Amino acid sequence: MKLGSRKNSTRLRQLKTLLARCNRCGLCQPVCPSFIHSRHEGDSPRGRLALLTAFCQGQLHDMAALHTCLRRCLDCGRCQRACPAGLPVLQIFAVARSFFPAPRPRWQRLVLRGLLARPQRMEVAWRLLRPLLPLLLHRDGAAGQTARLYWPGKRPGARYLPLPPAAPLPKQPKVQAETAVQGVAAASSDLAPVGRASAMRVAFFPGCLADRILPELGRACLAIFAQHQVEAILPHWACCGAPALRTGDMRAMQRMVSHNLQQLAGLTAHWLVTACPACAEHPGLWSEVPGLDSSQQALARYWAGRTVEMSTFVQHILKVEPLPPSTGAVLPTVCHQPCRLPKNVDMSALIRLAPQQEILPLREADACCGGGLFSLEEPALSQRIGQRKRDFIVASGARRVVTGCPACVLQLRDLLARNRDRIEVRHWAETYGSE
Ligand code: SF4
Ligand code: SF4
Repeated sequence: MKLGSRKNSTRLRQLKTLLARCNRCGLCQPVCPSFIHSRHEGDSPRGRLALLTAFCQGQLHDMAALHTCLRRCLDCGRCQRACPAGLPVLQIFAVARSFFPAPRPRWQRLVLRGLLARPQRMEVAWRLLRPLLPLLLHRDGAAGQTARLYWPGKRPGARYLPLPPAAPLPKQPKVQAETAVQGVAAASSDLAPVGRASAMRVAFFPGCLADRILPELGRACLAIFAQHQVEAILPHWACCGAPALRTGDMRAMQRMVSHNLQQLAGLTAHWLVTACPACAEHPGLWSEVPGLDSSQQALARYWAGRTVEMSTFVQHILKVEPLPPSTGAVLPTVCHQPCRLPKNVDMSALIRLAPQQEILPLREADACCGGGLFSLEEPALSQRIGQRKRDFIVASGARRVVTGCPACVLQLRDLLARNRDRIEVRHWAETYGSE
């Protein structure tokens, strides 16, 4: 189903048809983090779908209520995994946001369209901003690996962030002349069959977080590629489109997708590998973005089928086996399972790629931590959801939390820093192979 303007009645009909498949059984309710913490029907997947149905049928006109209910969704995808009718709930919400975009301040549109969609400009802006970060981030000794973002008036949105990050990852100019070929057919034809790691080439998509906020994670992924003789290409990407989709800004989304497809056109690589599980889901929607021509749509569809996130790549494509536990000193560690990590990824096996960690049980290890873009829009609810996760982590006695998503890393560090807990948070790729 296409994303786009409400004026398109065919798309609206498609949305209504999908909504009609919800039989109101409510099996999605107990897994929804926003419902668990608010107990309001409007904060449940079923309630959101009912509200959307009423809007699409012209029975409800309170646009503010619709925007609030969509904003309070974490986009975690738990409801669609629990739904016996197989409703693509995340896609429905994405389409709804594009039909009924919430009013946004001008600066947000400028950031989305002018910076996140234009990586060269972003590069310049980041170069200017980085020297100023020490003025905005206040070191806080008791808060471990983070510094508090200074925000006049103690706004609830102020967060603990990583200390001023190192330089972003080194990019490569777009496709090398000798590998530049045209179109989808060429992208799939002239490579050795996948199977032997040494014959593999990937396009690495670190995403905004692993490129700029947590570049040590991006570098750790590049080191893993090098260790397994995987050639990694890192062009100047735009954002994957997640923030544009969340705000319903289709013009920003179209610019981001067009730029990324331009980088992929003629690129000869076996896989597009993302550092973030959420980034890996977006190429699947790129072909639905309005304003693309047929060759762009074909390219988007081709890469949608060849995009994986880092955990899947290491576990199911490189088939790296866990190491035996270390006999030396061990670090008590728990594993937080990100919502968007594919269900066939075994996080506990990824943790065992670092043998010096002793894995402790964590209650509700797969419960949502409340992070991602949602934590910026709904900080109070995000912290309430996350506090439960923090309490279980502390009760486990662990000194380290390992996870598989950069957004979870940021959220968990914020939660633990707020509570003055000296527990470190790492992505498994950063601990990979460490003794
Ligand atoms: S995506 Fe997550 S937060 Fe949103 S309705 Fe579904 S379960 Fe609830
Ligand atoms: S589980 Fe599926 S069918 Fe049942 S209420 Fe939720 S979205 Fe609707």
